[in-house]
Amino acid sequence: MAETPQGQGHETLSNLLQESRRFPPPADLAAHANATADTYTAAEADRLGFWEDQARRLTWGRPWDTVLEWNPPFAKWFTGGTLNAAVNCLDRHVDAGRGDRVAYYWEGEPGDTRTITYAQLKDQVCQASNALLELGVTKGDRVAIYMPMIPETVVAMLACTRIGAVHMVVFGGFSADALGTRIDDSEAKVVVTADGGYRRGKASSLKPAVDEAVASRPTVEHVLVVRRTGQDVDWTDGRDVWWHEVVDRQSTEHAAEAHDAEHPLYIMYTSGTTAKPKGILHTTGGYLTQVAYTHWAVFDLKPETDIFWTAADIGWVTGHSYIVYGPLCNGATSVMYEGTPDTPHKGRFWEIVEKYRVSIAYMAPTAIRTFMKWGEDIPAGFDMSSLRVLGSVGEPINPEAYMWYRKNIGGDRTPIVDTWWQTETGAIMVSPLPGVTEGKPGAAMRPVPGIVADVVDEEAKPVPNGGGGFIVVREPWPSMLRGIWGDPERYKDTYWSRFEGLYFPGDGAKRDEDGDIWLLGRVDDVMLVSGHNISTTEVESALVSHSKIAEAAVVGASDPVTGQGIVAFVILRGEAGDGGDGLVKELRDHVSASLGPIAKPRQVMVVPELPKTRSGKIMRRLLRDVAENRQLGDVTTLTDSSVMDVIAAKLPEAK
Ligand code: ATP
Ligand code: MG
Repeated sequence: MAETPQGQGHETLSNLLQESRRFPPPADLAAHANATADTYTAAEADRLGFWEDQARRLTWGRPWDTVLEWNPPFAKWFTGGTLNAAVNCLDRHVDAGRGDRVAYYWEGEPGDTRTITYAQLKDQVCQASNALLELGVTKGDRVAIYMPMIPETVVAMLACTRIGAVHMVVFGGFSADALGTRIDDSEAKVVVTADGGYRRGKASSLKPAVDEAVASRPTVEHVLVVRRTGQDVDWTDGRDVWWHEVVDRQSTEHAAEAHDAEHPLYIMYTSGTTAKPKGILHTTGGYLTQVAYTHWAVFDLKPETDIFWTAADIGWVTGHSYIVYGPLCNGATSVMYEGTPDTPHKGRFWEIVEKYRVSIAYMAPTAIRTFMKWGEDIPAGFDMSSLRVLGSVGEPINPEAYMWYRKNIGGDRTPIVDTWWQTETGAIMVSPLPGVTEGKPGAAMRPVPGIVADVVDEEAKPVPNGGGGFIVVREPWPSMLRGIWGDPERYKDTYWSRFEGLYFPGDGAKRDEDGDIWLLGRVDDVMLVSGHNISTTEVESALVSHSKIAEAAVVGASDPVTGQGIVAFVILRGEAGDGGDGLVKELRDHVSASLGPIAKPRQVMVVPELPKTRSGKIMRRLLRDVAENRQLGDVTTLTDSSVMDVIAAKLPEAK
């Protein structure tokens, strides 16, 4: 991010892509929408009052005295107020007579299922809270959670928050080493894990990685192990305890204390796509306010009737905010799926939509592009008429991927909300509102009500319509990170030093002629070609708009003539076969015709896979290493590190 800026300091981002397709909200949705055009006006007239209204969605032990205390860059929201996150997610729904409502329809990868009501989830969370207390966890302690996508993961998170412990979820796909360094940094006292989980049709173990990570870390007092797969596990007596032995025998009663609004809720490490992982700290009152509000407004959630599904991992912030906290605060019914989209067949996601009558689905562009690669015949085999809103998160969505998603998944009727946010922002910041906004393929459009974001140039001046630059946030927001765990200086340097008084997320953006915002990828990924800053996103979108291409990754490789040359890695669509002769020339010409000759790739290579992180982001720095014939950098946070061998093996023939 800001730590390794590249391609900066010359001129602002060129604005190359043109897109004229428009999708007004469906009339019926607009007529009953939760958020309307007036919502923006109300939030602009009294921003803090607006957030106070949103905070009233929650149940408070004691109301706040002050909405916002702002000592830049340190914010405190709703100070003096107290609340308990687990009570807001569970008890208050049960107390209001909604205990029988389903909180989760859980679907295991092998096809086993569990239906869990709010009342049942509350009982399990109380039992787990009592178990954590018995294991010596007290308020403020950190608990690492290294789990598959099973209901106990949510139970463990909420049990921590109930007793005031701070959870730190580590993606189950990460190595022992990644888990270990996060345990060190957060000084976690207990690790909650499972024997394993199901991935790609087989039991994939987790406990051995915990054993390895904890062996050299005596500060971890206990490892609490859920039995999921029944795999053999090594056991350290005294340290390791089975969930079913310790949790199941506990009382389902636990009197929850209301914690300070600013009490730490969780730490989540960023994935390190661009720099060393940072322990992002979120606190209670402001975070819950903004996740509950955005979940309600951006997805137009109707808790009595909608079935909501975030198809993401809980080990990514999207899972925290939109599988756990947002949906549960709003009393929603969610689907939770354990496994991969191609197990046991490539229609698994759509089968789940059909089976549970999912009405709102939220996923990453990387998944959408994978489905494009597999072909449109697959979703066509399922009844997805229940869907009414679709969401996208994690990367800019290429206009062609948006169109594919809308047509093949949304039946050409559902609005698509392209939600821009980060681990650091805690909740959605820039997004269309499905009942208000006329959608544009590829644009995140406008800051959500109550958020003041802008696009500025090098000198922090707002860019005019049609201009490109950097996205910034001008005013503190309720779910903003409260810092980097243990490193206040790095917090200031990373986010607050690039532009005086403005939060700098590290992403490039442009404003179109209507003033709407388009995200253009990370500033670190911006290429500098013959004196022009060109965004990788725009070149990738141009490639994906070619009928034979499903996915593309573009990097700038050093070039003696132009400074950097554009190198593209592309994956073909299922329908395209091997692409045919002359494909490379066809693609280079296609980009040149769409964006102008300056954006014409120097090289195009057809590859079977791309290196990705847990949230499906392409690790362009590794592709840059390949393109510049360098030794590969750190690959520990890739979901599948063998991908790089496959790409390297393809290279000689592709050049
Ligand atoms: P690290 O910073 O260590 O690489 P991470 O950034 O992968 O971790 P996230 O916080 O999930 O983890 O990613 C946030 C980033 O994802 C944003 O800064 C932006 O670059 C990108 N992003 C997320 N949603 C969108 C979107 N709708 N449009 C464009 N970019 C998006
Ligand atoms: Mg990031």
